[in-house]
Amino acid sequence: MGKPIVNYSKIHKSFGDVDVLKGINLDIKPGEKVALIGPSGSGKTTIIRMLMTLEQPTSGTILVNGENLWQMEKKGQLVPSDDKHLHAIRGDIGMVFQHFNLFPHMTIVENCMLAPALAKKNDKKEVKIQAVEMLEKVGLGDKINLYPAQLSGGQKQRVAMARALMMKPKVMLFDEVTSALDPELVGEVLEVIRDLAKEGEMAMILVTHEMDFALDIADRILFLNEGVIEEEGPPSELLVNPKSERLQDFLARFN
Ligand code: ADP
Repeated sequence: MGKPIVNYSKIHKSFGDVDVLKGINLDIKPGEKVALIGPSGSGKTTIIRMLMTLEQPTSGTILVNGENLWQMEKKGQLVPSDDKHLHAIRGDIGMVFQHFNLFPHMTIVENCMLAPALAKKNDKKEVKIQAVEMLEKVGLGDKINLYPAQLSGGQKQRVAMARALMMKPKVMLFDEVTSALDPELVGEVLEVIRDLAKEGEMAMILVTHEMDFALDIADRILFLNEGVIEEEGPPSELLVNPKSERLQDFLARFN
């Protein structure tokens, strides 16, 4: 077994007096597809936001490709690793949010060009060629010069995916990416994720309420409850034959 691309060890997170994560230990293998399920407020989003350094653990370590995302400061507090170091690590991680987060004043191809242009100072022509390729990959090759407001929610979410893919991440994080969409637009977004999953090389962590989808694409499902991973396993076991009563209750809501 190769070394994990992501490793969480003894991660705790509190917001004020509230302990949101209570000792998360988790390894993600290169290329592995992991779905994170659980009740609202159980800490799913916090787990993945930490990988983007959008939230800071209260204690514990997170390694990406063996490199520490956080380091201990003198007063015993965790702080992000130094900028240069962090920049290299973060390039390995891409994230797609529930609410697209596209820049409204830029066309969709410009949205896709922004991060690589800023980060790597690549040749602009080359970056544009890649952006067009990524937009073609998500089925939007004929819309590259439109602005986000001219697209449907499903199309916007596909742009957000193309934009995240521009950095060629080794790990992609999906935070309930279909939950802000009208039901008829969910399918097209899941289809793009499914295609990416089939390509194989990229690890994916998906926070999702789409159980059929999780069953279909995940190698492993984690059930998070009140800040702990209460049950985990391959979807065929975990969804079909849940052991804990809490998971049984949780799944019953989807039937
Ligand atoms: P989930 O994704 O499972 O719904 P979250 O990770 O979003 O759960 O949130 C877990 C808990 O942490 C919730 O009780 C939420 O209110 C709380 N929380 C999340 N972010 C913050 C924050 N920035 N400040 C205070 N509380 C927060």
